[in-house]
Amino acid sequence: MNSKLITQHSKFSNVRFGRLLDWLYPPRCRFCGDSILGRDDCFCFRCGERIRLVTHPLCSACGRPFLDTGGDDHLCGSCLVRRPHFVRARAWACYPTEDGDDHPLREVVQRFKYGRKVSLGKPLGRLMAIGCRGSLPERNLNLIVPVPLHPKRLRWRGFNQSAILAREVSSQWNLPIDPFVLLRSRETPPQTQLAEEERRRNVRRAFSLNPEKSIEGKTILLIDDVYTSGATVNECSRALMRGGAREVYVLTLARTV
Ligand SMILES: [Zn+2]
Ligand SMILES: [Zn+2]
Repeated sequence: MNSKLITQHSKFSNVRFGRLLDWLYPPRCRFCGDSILGRDDCFCFRCGERIRLVTHPLCSACGRPFLDTGGDDHLCGSCLVRRPHFVRARAWACYPTEDGDDHPLREVVQRFKYGRKVSLGKPLGRLMAIGCRGSLPERNLNLIVPVPLHPKRLRWRGFNQSAILAREVSSQWNLPIDPFVLLRSRETPPQTQLAEEERRRNVRRAFSLNPEKSIEGKTILLIDDVYTSGATVNECSRALMRGGAREVYVLTLARTV
């Protein structure tokens, strides 16, 4: 058998193996458990409909969607006052912040992060990689860098959720990834309870460039799970730009609105 035939044959067996797996273990919605069509899908149609995607018009820098549905992208008030250290941030969906209702996206992200369901990282990473195709200059990007966790928190959680999402984006976009470029030099309290100005102060100089790495002249894609005030990714971008990066772009799974 020549090599082309072997490749075709193995592709065919992979498809057949996938179908066998679907028959043995039908893929299920990661939120409600209903059966779904594709093995790589994350949500069923009904749960997917409850997730609001980030749509234009939005802030041309931080990616905040504007409420009015018409018009072009432009800078938002906060980016006009203080331009971020990254060129552009984009997110796949709006992260629901109201407590009380169990929202598919928030619930699944929390199971992934705090419930240590590492297996959710791949389908979530796929959603952001496929959903945000074309929103960033993919061809100019040289390297993917996930937002690092402090070693103490990494030990406690056992994995870095941003690195897992970044690995999936790296394989979908065919870009190299290096999770050791940035170091979290200072442990910071969780940002969740802090106001915007406090968040900025909280993460100031919390990140530094690993002295063993060179990113001179590289265009970096920084990846995090949820964009809230942007303080964390902005501080990481500052460290990357100081370390010689040409430009920094940011991609997150979701963002608060
Ligand atoms: Zn569902
Ligand atoms: Zn903005």
